[in-house]
Amino acid sequence: AQSFNYAETLQKSMFFYECQRSGQLPSDNRVTWRANSAMNDGSDVGHDLTGGWYDAGDHVKFNFPMAFSATMLAWGAVDFAAGYNASGQMKYLKSNLRFVNDYFIRCHTAPNELYGQIGNGSTDHAWWGSSEVMAMSRPAYKIDQTHPGSDLAAETAAAMAAASMVFKTDDPSYSSTLLSHAIQLYNFADTYRGVYTGAITDAAGYYQSYSGYNDELVWGAIWLYRATGDAAWLAKAENYYANLSVESQSTIKSYKWGLAWDDKSFGCYALLAKLTGKTQYKEDIERHLDYWTDGYNGQRITYTPGGLAFLDVWGALRYAINTGFLAAYYKDAATTSAKGTKYYTFAQQQMNYALGNNPNNRSYVCGFGNNPPTQPHHRTAHGAWANNLNGPPTATRHTLYGALVGGPGSNDAYTDDRSNYVNNEVACDYNAAFSGLLAKLVEDHGGTPLANFPVAETPSGEFLIEAKLNGSGNTYTEWSVWVNNHTAWPARIASKHAFRLFIDVSEGLTAGYSPSQYVVSSNNADVTFTQLMPWDSTRHIYYTEVTFNSSIKIWPGGQGESRKESQIRIRLPYEASAAAWNPANDWSSQNVDGTLKEVSNIPLYVDDVLVYGSTP
Ligand code: BGC
Ligand code: CA
Repeated sequence: AQSFNYAETLQKSMFFYECQRSGQLPSDNRVTWRANSAMNDGSDVGHDLTGGWYDAGDHVKFNFPMAFSATMLAWGAVDFAAGYNASGQMKYLKSNLRFVNDYFIRCHTAPNELYGQIGNGSTDHAWWGSSEVMAMSRPAYKIDQTHPGSDLAAETAAAMAAASMVFKTDDPSYSSTLLSHAIQLYNFADTYRGVYTGAITDAAGYYQSYSGYNDELVWGAIWLYRATGDAAWLAKAENYYANLSVESQSTIKSYKWGLAWDDKSFGCYALLAKLTGKTQYKEDIERHLDYWTDGYNGQRITYTPGGLAFLDVWGALRYAINTGFLAAYYKDAATTSAKGTKYYTFAQQQMNYALGNNPNNRSYVCGFGNNPPTQPHHRTAHGAWANNLNGPPTATRHTLYGALVGGPGSNDAYTDDRSNYVNNEVACDYNAAFSGLLAKLVEDHGGTPLANFPVAETPSGEFLIEAKLNGSGNTYTEWSVWVNNHTAWPARIASKHAFRLFIDVSEGLTAGYSPSQYVVSSNNADVTFTQLMPWDSTRHIYYTEVTFNSSIKIWPGGQGESRKESQIRIRLPYEASAAAWNPANDWSSQNVDGTLKEVSNIPLYVDDVLVYGSTP
């Protein structure tokens, strides 16, 4: 079998979480194409709800999968710390965990009140652009005593309890803050029962709580037990375990689905099996893992011909990897060593499939390995300016290092297509157990992170001028000049856009006209402009500076939004003869004709800095 540099993948996976950050970025931000965004989140409800992670290729903050991702990342830190430490990634993991847990603290606005989603699914998804410039309203949604959400509150409790373990020695006070939020949130979840999508109905179309909250009540209690060592939490987890779902018409615990943001039962089996060693839990996790490996009772999950354990079309890789994480975590406690080996082999095989050991010989992790995805379904990475997923630009502008895509279909087929969010979206929850399993593989197989990572990207094509001849006559030239904002390093909105048009007045001087007799004019109300000013009077070169009014916003948020036009005429007095006006020697008339195109002889100044074109 092929071998992979798991440490490099882990390093890149940590970077992916940095790409997903919302709100104020820390001063050590490594993602050169990201900046602060969504800085008003929570303002509609009078709270600061900035921070956290954008869910996937969109910009909604869906706390339910976000909290699950945070729990899984922290689980990796707790049980596979050696791999994180060996690869130098523990500090990045902690930074990611702190970032997301700071947000959960903000969302927990009262003991029994928790914000659980910022941004509306349909309004967010309707716009395709970078998070730094998004302009839609981003409503905040919550759960409380009268509109409870036990799954959301208990998952957030699990995340905070697990993170409290990670920070226990480094930062005991942060750790205990997280733990006290976790306990309050768990009690809220347990006391006021309900499914969170009943309260936050907008989430139902995206992250419906199909499995209900019983699994999160067990899961949350397990993590509180692990964080506190208090046997009462274990007793609660074991007590609620009876409520976990069963296969139809049987008393056998469900085993045919997989661990993901919705159903944590499978994680509960593995954790309780290892923490207590009790037979029931071992049977439950082994039945599940057997089903996913060589079968249980003659029934086995579908495998693709190329060897991917295939649960579902949407994000198939993540289910296989999540189950691989459970297999790697549980293997040492297996009832026979043959089973332990079988589980571990499965875990590594599924990971290797994702990293390139598959019929397409390609990596499914952006910016890693052979022939990785380059067109993930991800708004900010695309760096589009026309509110169009298909471009322009055709190619994605940023490398979303470390992001695991949804992955192939049941026949191993895959196309790297940005519009396909089923197979080619990325998500915080896809990368969570993925990171933990990578850490385990680093622990066992080594690997080295890249020394020069990340390399800063080089911005290109951020601002440009397009122009065409709008009209011409014996004594004048009229330009149509378009200022374009295609910024993506990061996407940004400037306050001042000005361009300069340069002409050579030699023939006018010969005909007896002084530069002050030329007239600059415009039909647009959107700009102010100067009359001709000397640029280099010895060479007879003069120019006008045209400035868009500050009320004109030019931003990479749509076709019309990203470009604004100004029509400018420079002329001689009407009675001048044709010989006094010759555009052929005018700097800003070079390459200007009836077709609108880029013209670099019309330089653009944004916020008083030359950003495009050149001067004579
Ligand atoms: C969004 C994706 C989302 C999908 C399904 C698309 O418009 O870009 O992020 O997964 O809708 O809701
Ligand atoms: Ca659930």
